[in-house]
Amino acid sequence: MEMPKEGRAIDDVIADLADKRTGDARWQDGRTFGMVYDGGPSVHEVAERAAVMYLHENALNVMAFPSLRSIQSEVVDWTAGLLHGPDTAAGFLTSGGTESIQCAVLAARERGRAERGIRSGEIVVAESAHAAFHKSAHMYDMPIHAAPVSDDWTADVDAMADLVNENTVLVVGSAPQYPQGVVDDIPAIAALAATVDANCHVDACMGGFVLPFVEMLGREVPVWDFRVDGVHSMSADIHKLGYAPKGVSVVLHRTKELRKYQTFLFDQWLGGFYGSPNLQGTRSGLPMACAWAVMQHLGVDGYVELTRTVLDNADRMRAGIAEIDGVRVLGDGQYHLVAMASDPDAAVPVDVFALGDALAKRGWHHDRQGPPDTLHSTVSNTNTGQIDHYLTDLAECVAEVGGSTTDDRSTSYSTVD
Ligand SMILES: *Cc1c(COP(=O)(O)O)cnc(C)c1O
Repeated sequence: MEMPKEGRAIDDVIADLADKRTGDARWQDGRTFGMVYDGGPSVHEVAERAAVMYLHENALNVMAFPSLRSIQSEVVDWTAGLLHGPDTAAGFLTSGGTESIQCAVLAARERGRAERGIRSGEIVVAESAHAAFHKSAHMYDMPIHAAPVSDDWTADVDAMADLVNENTVLVVGSAPQYPQGVVDDIPAIAALAATVDANCHVDACMGGFVLPFVEMLGREVPVWDFRVDGVHSMSADIHKLGYAPKGVSVVLHRTKELRKYQTFLFDQWLGGFYGSPNLQGTRSGLPMACAWAVMQHLGVDGYVELTRTVLDNADRMRAGIAEIDGVRVLGDGQYHLVAMASDPDAAVPVDVFALGDALAKRGWHHDRQGPPDTLHSTVSNTNTGQIDHYLTDLAECVAEVGGSTTDDRSTSYSTVD
């Protein structure tokens, strides 16, 4: 495969791109439970107009683009407000949840070094914590210890306590964790971190733009954010249920002093003084501007209304699954994540991966995860109007699959190619 020697006409290029997309997930049909979070037509419009304005701008140097400096600080401040950060809270925009987590892990390692003299800082998580913590540990060559979860799928904090030692620099809780959508006991995790003066990070990549609005709707949420005293840092993804296009997340620290541990400053380069807030160098202004525009356009009221719809979608999905013999929902997640597994007590327990294949033939896309084997749904506004169709198809697919199984046991959160 070679790049064309002669350039091609714009229309031809775009037509070929359109052709390439024919096999892609058709999220516009509302049958994709994850990956694309659709805020509706006016959210598309405001994001697309902002994207065109900021397609070429570079946030590497906010001195050259002061608008991006203020976009970043405003979005960070609004997010800190939603997450009940104190007035001292400070953060940065990043390219996504993984980068926000990488920044928080680095900050914990550096604080451990500077303030506690720890040469090889260790991380303690639950097995439900996102793989990005393991990726960070791998990249930074830090030991990481994962404790099992309790029967309700929340982090087993006693088991985590057994893994904490004098080298622990970071203890992690999730609000909610991705696999089953339950919120960990954040006060207990923060208290555990405090026993050795480690950082406590709350991963609200999934919940950061949902739980604040769930609370505003009057539904109870276990206390999960900066209202818990011992929480040092948090991550919240605007490109999930914040409904901005991909490439934007927020990492927050309780104070500027804590934030400084994630930044990199270097003055020994022939290129001059180099300062970097996160893991990127050259940095697109596009997702930052889109996040700003979407948040301004929706406002708190817009997010509350979207969240009402999302909860209604997810509640109906949970209730519908409960009525189908053969499958069940794992855990007591009350929000937007639904984990569907085989019901061992059913007359005919279903192989949910065979079920996933049958659903995929009808256009429904879930992530497959495990252990245990599960079809995972991130329910969002993308699925509005589709849940009843889904439940009808689900019942038919369960009957169709019966006791048959598939040999394909792969789980597919992502692919490496
Ligand atoms: C999505 C997610 C992440 C990682 O975020 P990316 O944007 O995919 O990099 C981390 N933690 C949780 C709980 C998530 O749901």
